[in-house]
Formats: sequence, C-alpha cells, structure tokens
Amino acid sequence: MGEGGFKVSKGLEKRVIDCDLLVIGGGLAGCFAAIRGADLGVRTVLVEKANPLRSGAAATGVDHIWAYFPDIQGPTGYTLDDLIEDHTDKVDGMIHQDLLRVISETALDRIHDLEKMGVKIRYEQSKLPGQYILVRQIQSVVNTLNFDGRDMKLHMAKEVRRRGAKIVSRVMVTELVVRDGRIVGAIGIGVRDQKIYVFRSKATILCTARISGGRMFTEPGPGAGVAFNLRWPPSETGDGKAMAFRAGAELINLEFSHHRVNFKNFVRGGGLPYNSYSPAGQGINAFGKAIMPPEKGIFEDSTQGIYNAPKHKLIDELMEGRGPIYCDLTTGTEDEVKFCEWSISHEGGGTALLHLMQRDGIDFRRDKLEMGPGEVELGNFAAGGLYVDGDCASTLPGLFVAGDEMGGVPLACAPGALATGWYAAEKGAKYIQRNKPPGRVTTSTPEVQEFEALCLSMLNRKDGQKWQEAQVALNRIMSYYGLKLKTEKMLQRGLANLDDLTKHAELKASNPHELMRCLEMRNLFLNAELILRGNLERKESRKIKSMNIHTRLDYPDQDDEHWKCALSQRLENGKIVFAKRPFRRI
Ligand SMILES: Cc1cc2nc3c(=O)[nH]c(=O)nc-3n(C[C@H](O)[C@H](O)[C@H](O)COP(=O)(O)OP(=O)(O)OC[C@H]3O[C@@H](n4cnc5c(N)ncnc54)[C@H](O)[C@@H]3O)c2cc1C
Repeated sequence: MGEGGFKVSKGLEKRVIDCDLLVIGGGLAGCFAAIRGADLGVRTVLVEKANPLRSGAAATGVDHIWAYFPDIQGPTGYTLDDLIEDHTDKVDGMIHQDLLRVISETALDRIHDLEKMGVKIRYEQSKLPGQYILVRQIQSVVNTLNFDGRDMKLHMAKEVRRRGAKIVSRVMVTELVVRDGRIVGAIGIGVRDQKIYVFRSKATILCTARISGGRMFTEPGPGAGVAFNLRWPPSETGDGKAMAFRAGAELINLEFSHHRVNFKNFVRGGGLPYNSYSPAGQGINAFGKAIMPPEKGIFEDSTQGIYNAPKHKLIDELMEGRGPIYCDLTTGTEDEVKFCEWSISHEGGGTALLHLMQRDGIDFRRDKLEMGPGEVELGNFAAGGLYVDGDCASTLPGLFVAGDEMGGVPLACAPGALATGWYAAEKGAKYIQRNKPPGRVTTSTPEVQEFEALCLSMLNRKDGQKWQEAQVALNRIMSYYGLKLKTEKMLQRGLANLDDLTKHAELKASNPHELMRCLEMRNLFLNAELILRGNLERKESRKIKSMNIHTRLDYPDQDDEHWKCALSQRLENGKIVFAKRPFRRI
C-alpha cells in the first residue's frame, strides 16, 4: 500500500477513451485545436496533465500578442509579406516561412475568437482603428496587442467544453502508440487516480510545449536550487518530445538555448526590463547608468524590434564589476507606471509580483528591483521541437504538432500557439477524412503492458531514490557539461555521466503524484541526451542577432555554409540518426 492508500502491488486499473481527434496538452495551442476540432464535427478529446483552466505557460496570463492588423499597418505600406520578411530577419532566417505565414495571416482572427469568448481586447482610450492598444515587440512596427490576457485560459477552457470537445484533466500522457507506421493513440497515467488511460484516435495533435529550462539546468538562475521557482512551467518536462522520439519522430534544434535577464529571487518574465515594463522600464547598472534606456518609442514606428535589444550588455555589466543590475521604472511618469502595472497584472506571474510588492511596501515609482541572468530558455529563439511540414504534420503519419512543441518557428509565442492549434486541427480533420480508421489498440496491447510494468516497478520499489535526487544530479550534469563549457570532450564526458545516472537511477514513487515526477525524470533524461548529442553534432557557434543560441568553445565561429539549417535527430533501430533540414522559404 502506498501513501494515501493507493494499492500498488497488483495491476493498475485501466480506462479506454475513444475519439477521432486526440489533442495532447491543453495550453493555448491545445485549447484552440480542440475548439476547431469540435467545430468541424470531429469527436475531439483534449487530455491535459494539469487542468486547462489554469495550465501551461499562459496559465496566469499573457499580455502581448503580435499579429498583422491590416487596418493599421496596411495604410502605412507595411504589408503581410513585409511582416514575414521582417520576422524572418529578426531570427536570422532560421525559420520555416510557410508556418510563419499561417501565423501571420490568422493570428488576428484568433484574437477575435478570444474576444468572442469574453477576453477584453479593445480600449476606449485608443485612437487606433479597432480601438486596440498596440505596442512594438518582435517585429519592427507597432503590431503587438497589449490586452487583458490574465484570464484567457479560463475563457478558452470553458469554450472547449461549450463547443463539445471532451476534456480529460490530470492525466500525463507518456507514450504514443504506433501501428503500421501510423500514430493510432496514446497511453497516459492519472496523476491523481493512478489509472492507466488508453486513448484510441484517428489523428493526434501534440501540444505539450517546450522543456522548462529550470528542470534541465540550474545555471544561471534565478531558480537555481529552487526547482519550482521558474519562469517556464516546471511541469513542462519535454514529455511530448520524449514520447514522439521513442515513437520514431524527427526532432530539431534541441541543441539551441539562450537566456534572458530576470528578477533575482522572484521569477518573472515579461521581457524585462522592457515589454510589460515599457515604456517606463530601463535597465541600469550599480552606478545608475542606463544600459538599456526606457523604450519610449514602443508606441511609435521604429526600425528595431526590442528582442534585438542588447540585453547581454546588462550581463556584461556584472562581468565587468558594475553590478548589481536593476530594472528601474522610477523615471517614468505616473501614467506610464500605471500602464506598466496594468500590463504586468495580465502577464504570467505578474499578479503575484504586484501582490508581493504591495505586501512588502515596494513601489515601482520609488524602488528599483534587482535583476540577474534568467533561467535557460529551450524555446523562443531556440525553437526546439518536432520537425513538421507546412501542414503541421510530423514525420509520423497521423501525428500533428502545434504551438511551442513545433520546432523551427522561433518567436511564434502565443500567436503561434493560437494559430497553429487551429490550423493543425483542420489538417488533422482532413487526415481523418482521407484515411481509413486504424486498427484498435486494447488494454492488453504490449505497449500498455510495458508501461504498466514501468509504473509498477516505480511504485513497488522499496529501496531506491526519490525523483528529487535524480533531479539534482541531472541539473548538475547539464549545467556543468552542457552549458558554458561546451567542447567535444566536455560533451562526451557529460554523456558518460548522464549514461551512468540513467543506468543507476532506481526511482521510487509512493503515490501517483510522485509517479508523475518519476516519469517526468525519465523524459528529462532522454531530452538531456538529445540536447548533449545535438550540441556535440553541431560543430560551430551560433547567434541570432545579438543572442547566443549555441556556443562551442572549440568551434567559436559561426559556419553558415554548413550549419545554417536545422539539425534533426530520430531513432532508427535503437540508434540516433542525424540529418540537416533546410528552413523552408515561400
Ligand atoms: C511567464 C510567461 C509569460 C509569457 N508571456 C507571453 C506574452 O506576453 N506574449 C506571447 O506571445 N507569449 C508569451 N509567453 C509565451 C506563451 O505563453 C507560449 O508561447 C504559449 O503559451 C505556448 O502555447 P502552447 O500551447 O504551445 O504551450 P502551453 O500553453 O505551455 O501549454 C502546454 C500544455 O501541455 C500540457 N502538458 C505538458 N506535458 C503533458 C503531458 N505529458 N500530458 C498532457 N499534457 C501535458 C501542459 O500542462 C500545458 O498545459 C509567455 C510565457 C511565459 C512562461
């Protein structure tokens, strides 16, 4: 008997769920995929590890969404094609333009869908057509909606149900089932009821997002040593990548990572010291010098997107003895600070930040807040994930991908998730129409039995380690060998250490929650191996504009001739096979 009275020694109870379209992950992409699937009359099931009401990177809100606004950008002569070229330039061409076009063309429609669900997107004080509040974020023009995004997940999850899709919450999917080379379902574990769930589907969309950098690396901080004080949701442990890789799918860009600046000790994103902190925010050093002056121009046209702002210069201040560094809003006007506070309150974690500041008597008007290097990001500029074609189809028939789980579309962010979730559901529905239903998976299918045996081995283990021990060991290996000191020999040594850890870790769980954490560790181990192997294979260093995304000390130069492409990895006969994939142009 485990903790809480869970019976563990015998087999686990099983539940079979049938559907046409299975959506795995109920974040921004997954909710829109489920909504569109249900709209198209396809029997749709959305399965989520947490609860889609408040799950994923947007659980507590996003305050910015970029899009093309024809009534606003059109009259200035900036066309949709200009936006695509502009965005492509901001990421140095390392992007699949066909998917970027899908996002650019449809993000505004998805924003309007959010409005129909009850999300406020228009403001009386705005003089712009449509009464939007627009700021500058990623592209060179003012085309990013600042809005009341805090509760968008609540509205979206309710809409999924209203349109008739079924939601299965608190189930962690861990395996995809392949029959005749085609994905025909998935297997998961109830993280509260400890049941095994077997999903039978005709098409599946993976929307499980990126890997939370702080579950993989503790460097450079500020979540260091505090595994759950992270900007990126700690429950996002590369489960989608791991299950897809085990099933034979191709993954790209796993070697890329970067980091930004963040508050010390309290993790908040929001593009510090800009984005949610603009127009009042500036980045200053210990002597009060503005290294990143206030972005006063964010409401006006400009030729440089703020993502290209030289944030690394702030980190240089630390290295050159002019730290600590701060986010400073004290020079902003009252209206500017109020605007920032509104924006922050709708950005992930922002409400908690404002609440804590109020509790502790900290005020942006008077106090500057200390920043430091942020946690490692394994998405955004890095854009690691499944390799997909222009239809969001993975290399495995029947498996589609949307949102941050999709590789090769950097800075797609929230609009990317909304737009590709919708689009992937349309492509999935067409796939269902065109293909015969697959053979039926049963609870006695070998994959289910293997998975049950794995769970039981963790639940019945008397001696062994708790998942936290494996977490610390993994973080130590990855932070030392896989981050700042990367060379051929260091990466090989990292792989040897990881192999040792993977072979000797005997993880034990005494309840379904711990079982989930142990299964997450298994997925993190696999993702760690792919990250190290990708780093070893890509023999160059690479920047996207000023952002380092891959640094090899033994190959310090960027080698566009051989490496301006995505590096893919897939499993074939138990071995990893690498390939170079060009970025598609339209
Ligand atoms: C703090 C913060 C602020 C941000 N602000 C902005 C912003 O202002 N503008 C912007 O454009 N972008 C912003 N982003 C990025 C944006 O939130 C993401 O790009 C977007 O949410 C990605 O959508 P997604 O559906 O791919 O992933 P998510 O929304 O993260 O959803 C993934 C879902 O998959 C579930 N899942 C994972 N593994 C499993 C499994 N094994 N089984 C079942 N379910 C699983 C997760 O629980 C989660 O609900 C922000 C991100 C963060 C962290």
